[in-house]
Amino acid sequence: MIASDLRSGVERLGEMIAEASTIVPFTGAGISTESGIPDFRSPGGLWTRNRPIPYEEFVASQEARDESWRRRFAMEPTFAAAKPGRGHRALAALYRAGKVPAVITQNIDNLHQRSGFAPDHVIELHGNTTYARCIGCGKIYDLIWVKQRFDENGAPDCIDCDEPVKTATISFGQAMPEDAMERATELAQACDLFIAIGSSLVVWPAAGFPMMAKDAGARLIIINREPTDQDDIADLVIRHDIGEALGPFVGD
Ligand code: NAD
Repeated sequence: MIASDLRSGVERLGEMIAEASTIVPFTGAGISTESGIPDFRSPGGLWTRNRPIPYEEFVASQEARDESWRRRFAMEPTFAAAKPGRGHRALAALYRAGKVPAVITQNIDNLHQRSGFAPDHVIELHGNTTYARCIGCGKIYDLIWVKQRFDENGAPDCIDCDEPVKTATISFGQAMPEDAMERATELAQACDLFIAIGSSLVVWPAAGFPMMAKDAGARLIIINREPTDQDDIADLVIRHDIGEALGPFVGD
């Protein structure tokens, strides 16, 4: 059912939150646009400006690695300035209230952790761009270390195993993190309310989770200003701004 207007949508959302015992939010780039981080597919989004660099290309070419890090550092002022928005804060309030055990996110911006979720309760399907990792041995690096090397010699390799160092994100063509996929599956199947927020639901396998939760018996709410392919299976669709829809649930 598509909410006829924002007010009735928020009212129904409040009722469904009150009726639920275990709520699992699933977030996409749209929850972070209020924080100043552009999404991928909206007009002016990152997708329209830069073709993503597939994993295979990153591994094969120093040039691709240089370009990938150049883009990442160009985004740094944006990521560094971003603060949790009303959507993040509302979910953190539900988490503190014990209604939300964990959040499943496609985002890489660390804003759920910054809003108060324990890191272990943020299931990152696509990793995290606020630090780096060796693609060979998995050694973690901070971005300051990478930037220093990058400025001297371009995209750096691991000091232990010589393999390339990459942001700790999942690129197209890269395997999904098994542990995160397993935990997200368990959460989607165990909740009684699943809320997809700010995702175009076109990136798979992540986009399979709302459907999976619905199939397992949960109610499904979709909050996104554009239509998605799963709107017709949702119990409630709020096609409005996320900050406006979730603002009333931020609390103190
Ligand atoms: P997407 O860009 O495909 O879709 C975002 C959706 O959010 C769009 O449908 C848009 O209409 C909607 N939206 C944007 N701002 C909104 C607002 N204020 N209120 C309501 N709706 C709003 O994003 P996706 O589905 O998450 O897939 C993109 C992939 O890109 C993800 O897998 C993620 O890893 C990555 N990404 C992450 C970030 C981030 O971490 N913040 C930013 C860009 C891309």
